[in-house]
Amino acid sequence: MNIHEYQAKALFETFGVAVPKGAAAKTPEDFIIALGGLPEGPTMVKSQIHAGGRGKGVFKDGYKGGVKFCKTKAEAREIAARMLGNTLVTAQTGPAGRRVQTIYFTVASEIKREYYLAILLDRGASRPVIVASTEGGVEIEKVAHETPDRIFKVVVDPAYGLADFQVRDLVTRLGLAGAEAKNAVRLVRGLYAMYWETDAAMVEVNPLITTPAGEVLALDAKVSFDDNALFRHPEIVALRDLNEEDPKEIEASAHSLNYIALDGNIACLVNGAGLAMSTMDIIKYFGGSPANFLDVGGGASKDQVVAAFKIILGDPNVKGIFVNIFGGIMDCNVIAAGIVEAAREVGLGLPLVVRLEGNNSEAGKATLAASGLKIVSGDSMADAAQKIVRLVS
Ligand code: ADP
Ligand code: MG
Repeated sequence: MNIHEYQAKALFETFGVAVPKGAAAKTPEDFIIALGGLPEGPTMVKSQIHAGGRGKGVFKDGYKGGVKFCKTKAEAREIAARMLGNTLVTAQTGPAGRRVQTIYFTVASEIKREYYLAILLDRGASRPVIVASTEGGVEIEKVAHETPDRIFKVVVDPAYGLADFQVRDLVTRLGLAGAEAKNAVRLVRGLYAMYWETDAAMVEVNPLITTPAGEVLALDAKVSFDDNALFRHPEIVALRDLNEEDPKEIEASAHSLNYIALDGNIACLVNGAGLAMSTMDIIKYFGGSPANFLDVGGGASKDQVVAAFKIILGDPNVKGIFVNIFGGIMDCNVIAAGIVEAAREVGLGLPLVVRLEGNNSEAGKATLAASGLKIVSGDSMADAAQKIVRLVS
C-alpha cells in the first residue's frame, strides 16, 4: 500500500525525522486554511499523487511541473488552483497520468546540498538495507548506472537492529561532519525506526538535504507498506487513498484476489502466481496480449471465482477470456461452478476458452458442458492459448 508525501511526512515527524513545515488541502477553500498555518515567504506547491517524477511532470493541459517554487503564499495559492483537478503525467504515471486531488504546501528550504536516502528489504541478504548517495535529487537508477561508487549501502541485522557505528559510518561516507552529521544520525535513526515499526516495504527520501544552517531535512517522501502486515496497523490502513487505485483492483483486494490490470484484451483467470505468469507469457508467445494478471489462489471459493469473473467482465477492454487451471489443492469443479454462476448472473457475450487439468477436472468439465454456456475447451496450455488468441483477433 502506498501513501502520499504529506502523509509520509506526518509519519516522519512522529519518528523525529525532520521535514519542512507544511500542510495539505483538497479544495480551494482549504488552500487558505493550509497556507494560514505557514510562515510568509518562499513556498513550494506540490501535487500529491502516488507517483514520482512530479517535479519534471507535465499536466494534460500543457502546464509544466507538478512541484513548483513560489516566492509568496499568494502566488502559491494561484499555482495550487492551476494544479488541483488537473491531470499530471510523469515518467512513472504512464500516459494516462493521475488526477491531482490533494495539494501540499510546504516551506521552501534553502538547499546547500542534495542527497539520496532509502530503506528497503534486500531480498538477497534477507535483511533491511539502507541505501544512501551523495547524488540526490536525480534518478537513483541513473546514479547506480553511471557512478555506482557514489552509492553506499548498510545491511542491518534485524536481530541486533541498526548499530550506532553503522549510522556513523554511513554519515561519514556521505561527507557530513559536525552539526550536519549529528542531525543526519538522528534522521537516519528515526527513519529506520519508522521503517521497522510500521512494517514499511520501502521508505525513500529523494532529496534529503542539508541547509546553510546545518539542518538535515527530508524534502520528499515516498513510502509503501507490506500489505501482509497491514492488519497490524489500522492507523496506516486509514491513510489509504482509493482515488489512487484502479477500482477493479480495489474490488479484487476486497475478495482477496491477486489482480493487476494490464492493457491487453485477453483476460486470464488462473490459480497460482507462477501459472499466471506463464499464462501471460504464452498468450504473448502466440501473438495475443493479456488484459490482466489474476490469480485466484490455491484455495479459492466459488464466491471468489464469481467475483473474479465479474471483475474481468467489467473491463471494457476485454475481448476474450482464458481460464487456465491446474487443480492441485484447487478443485476444478469449484472453478467450473463459479464460472457458470458468474456467467448466469452477468451474462457472457465473450469467447471463453477453458483448460482444466488435475484435481476433479472431469467433474469440472461435466459442469461446464451441462451449463449450456458456449465454451471452447483447450487440451493443453498451448492449445488453449492459441484458441483464445484466434478467437479475439
Ligand atoms: P518528485 O521527486 O516527485 O519530482 P520532489 O518532492 O522530489 O518531487 O520535488 C522535486 C524537486 O523540488 C526536489 O528535487 C527539490 O529540488 C525541490 N523541492 C521539493 N520540495 C522542496 C522544498 N520544501 N524546498 C525546496 N525545494 C524543494
Ligand atoms: Mg523526489
